[in-house]
Amino acid sequence: MNNAINMLPCPMCGCTSINVKNEQPTDNSGGYFIECPDCGISTSLRYACGDDPIPLLAEQWNRRATAQCLHQIAEPQAEAMRLADECEESATHWVHEIDTRFKAAKMLRAQHARIAELEADNASLRGINSAQDKALAELEGQLEAIGAGGVESLRKRDCGGCR
Ligand SMILES: [Zn+2]
Repeated sequence: MNNAINMLPCPMCGCTSINVKNEQPTDNSGGYFIECPDCGISTSLRYACGDDPIPLLAEQWNRRATAQCLHQIAEPQAEAMRLADECEESATHWVHEIDTRFKAAKMLRAQHARIAELEADNASLRGINSAQDKALAELEGQLEAIGAGGVESLRKRDCGGCR
């Protein structure tokens, strides 16, 4: 049997010990075929009718091995799955990141609204203070006009940190 022809590994299991066989190994009268010793996948039978069937079988085996080599796509497939996981992981990360930013924006808006409220309160307090000062000045003028004492005891005590 001519096994010198280079045979590609088995397309199903990757076995590299691929040989041509004969269905009647004792007298070689049967059909020739190529079979994987590991998983049993095989070519069809070819008979020696003038032509040497072995190069044709080898060509048939190698064409199948190239076209349907499942183990050859195993690695790119694994890489594709790894990339899919990576994309999913980074998407999860960004979903969390986006959520955090939305929450931060919401908090900042709430703080801004509270500051605006406090500013409005402060402005109305300033208005009250100025009205008080004006009333005190008027009272002071009236007391002076009737010759009474000052208004110092009526003035707010300034603690220095409240204004
Ligand atoms: Zn195989």
